[in-house]
Amino acid sequence: MPVLSSLTVNNALRLVVDHCNQLKDKDLSSEVVSLRESYGRILAESVYLDTDQPPFDRSMRDGYAVLSEDIQKLPARLKYLGEVKAGEVSSLRLKKGEALQIMTGAPVPAGADAVVMVEYTERPNSDEVTILKSSISKSNIALKGSERKVGDLLVSKGDRLGSIELGGLASVGKSQISLFKRPTVGILATGDELVEVDEKPGPGQIRNSNAYLLYSQVLKMGGIPKILQTATDNIKDLTNQINKGLRNDVLLISGGVSMGKYDLVEPVMSELGIQIYFESVTMRPGKPTVFARKGKQFVFGLPGNPVSTFVAFELFVNPVLKTLQGLGPGTHPIMRGRLEREVIEKSGRTTFLPAVVADRGGGVKVDPVPWKGSADIFSMVGANGLIVVPLETERLSPGDLVDIILFEQMDNFPQCTF
Ligand code: AMP
Ligand code: MG
Repeated sequence: MPVLSSLTVNNALRLVVDHCNQLKDKDLSSEVVSLRESYGRILAESVYLDTDQPPFDRSMRDGYAVLSEDIQKLPARLKYLGEVKAGEVSSLRLKKGEALQIMTGAPVPAGADAVVMVEYTERPNSDEVTILKSSISKSNIALKGSERKVGDLLVSKGDRLGSIELGGLASVGKSQISLFKRPTVGILATGDELVEVDEKPGPGQIRNSNAYLLYSQVLKMGGIPKILQTATDNIKDLTNQINKGLRNDVLLISGGVSMGKYDLVEPVMSELGIQIYFESVTMRPGKPTVFARKGKQFVFGLPGNPVSTFVAFELFVNPVLKTLQGLGPGTHPIMRGRLEREVIEKSGRTTFLPAVVADRGGGVKVDPVPWKGSADIFSMVGANGLIVVPLETERLSPGDLVDIILFEQMDNFPQCTF
């Protein structure tokens, strides 16, 4: 097996993104889903307005529909004709000197060209209305088609559905909608030392935490995680399990990709015809990350140490899962914040340091957690970001503006005051 040289993070990311960009629309699958199940998912169809909006001249207020020419001299006494509620269409045509009580959302009756708010009217008796404020033509009326026209674009293929989009789709009657399928992601932990989470590790054993770490990351990215049975460090077992894992759109293999005698994942990949594109990235943590493909399937060999696995996923698996859902292969957005304490980093690699990122007023603050390296997931509990220390940087000082990848929401914001 040829040894591939270590890539910079940028070059490795570019390679992953290039592979994502090679995927065409026809490589992505779609499915029809009930609108209720569609929140947060990506549209596989564009949707257009099925009617003008509003679909009729709509009263914007509770009040009286009138002819504006009747109410230029005040007070104006008009004949009361009756009422029109939301959901009704009045069969009456308003003539000079007449008024019809109207509710918000009701169609303005023929003949009327303005609505006067009820606050500016009086009812001297049951047959009359007195108008106390003049209005120009079209006052308080949303004219048919004034917001949007039938056939106008509402949402485009590739858009993510938020609450507003769902509301819009419901308005145009889309109870079923075509969405890109969520990619299935096989998660294969490897290692003779692993026991399952509900087991007590014997001497020399540890629990398989990576499967859970990755499971949640896949969910967060909109994929469907499928945990496979853990593979031992044995060629036959690895071959079987990797083969099973290849039934998914993406296969994540954790462990077995370093330099140890029993790190057998790469030779097994090659044996199975999985093409390896990189096997080392100049980064800390996460150096022995493997990116590979077999046909349409994407395969990642993630380093066994939990923090390495986590960081490698955030960097390299994210763009693939986005692409497979019909979003572009966007990488993590970079935020900036002020460092709270000094960082010394002499690994000679691009380094991703766990940190707590918060804004308690006065801008985004970045506090690196005391962290003991790639196996130390415990010190990361509560961290929500990674400080990006560039390749050539050895020291960062308190107050420096640093790049951050935010992998969880920032919980600490100043409160709104209105
Ligand atoms: P490896 O890359 O297989 O040499 O693993 C590197 C380190 O990560 C070792 O200390 C492993 O025990 C640990 N490790 C591997 N797989 C897992 C896992 N699924 N959960 C937690 N730790 C793991
Ligand atoms: Mg191992």
